[in-house]
Amino acid sequence: MDEAALRKICGTVFDIQHYSIHDGPGIRTNVFLKGCPLHCLWCSNPESQDPHPQLMFRADKCTGCGACIPVCPVSAISFKEPVVQNDRAVCTACGACVDVCPNEAREIVGRMTTAGEVFDEAAQDTLFYAKDGGVTLTGGEMLFQPAFSSAILQLCKKAGIHTAIETSGFADWHVLADILQYTDLVLYDLKEMDPERHRKYTGVDNARILENLKKMSDVMNCEIWVRVPVIPGYNDDKENILATASFVKENIHNCTQIHLLPFHRLGEGKYEQLENEPNGFSGTVPDDSYMETLRGYVRDIGIDCR
Ligand code: SF4
Ligand code: SF4
Repeated sequence: MDEAALRKICGTVFDIQHYSIHDGPGIRTNVFLKGCPLHCLWCSNPESQDPHPQLMFRADKCTGCGACIPVCPVSAISFKEPVVQNDRAVCTACGACVDVCPNEAREIVGRMTTAGEVFDEAAQDTLFYAKDGGVTLTGGEMLFQPAFSSAILQLCKKAGIHTAIETSGFADWHVLADILQYTDLVLYDLKEMDPERHRKYTGVDNARILENLKKMSDVMNCEIWVRVPVIPGYNDDKENILATASFVKENIHNCTQIHLLPFHRLGEGKYEQLENEPNGFSGTVPDDSYMETLRGYVRDIGIDCR
């Protein structure tokens, strides 16, 4: 496909983060795509799961002034003292209520855009990329919007920009294989090795995830970093950490690093803002010495762990 056609491909993004140093080498522009087939209990970006734009409502900022009620074209807002309530079954995320709220209690998360617009915004950071930096597609699950992701990556490669993807790998192989043609580095999430626990924690089986990772190692040359979110009481047991490291050691010849990422609480308020039903998860933040103990298990197997 030529560049003009690639630029027109549409998708939904919920954030573009500049000057990141956590999601790949060097200084990076992280593009967060909306939509994910997994529903991890501990997800810190719950606004990434639904593929469509959504209303976020901060009840703690709402004064109940009522300015938003008459502007809603589908009558989704009504008083519920002392604030207002939103009927999410009819809300179309049009954004009309956001514009009139004097207290910034309302926000639409997610916007339709084109690969060309995303690329243009990222390309403004080119000076900061230096030798190692570049663009990282994340989410959500970037494989959930394969044509859009592929187009952004192709535009970056044509411009000589380093590309990374952060993915759960939960997609058909042909989808992943197409994306990998334009990817320099894969940040591959392995959340849990036991199939039953993986299903319980994320809503999906891990067989396809492990199979795709093996295939990727067998037939593709891109570098892989495996990443494990460490969630105390869920997947942080020694057996799971060792099983993950052993699987990587035995099967993934182009994985150069395993990253253990400690659970954090930054996403907690977002569940309330989306007015999601509680999912029963309650997490604790692991301390540094505990994380180092877990990293030691991986290093003992002979893999660089950070
Ligand atoms: S985003 Fe639009 S449809 Fe949804 S509550 Fe606000 S005005 Fe109504
Ligand atoms: S306009 Fe804002 S502050 Fe006023 S009722 Fe609506 S959400 Fe609350």
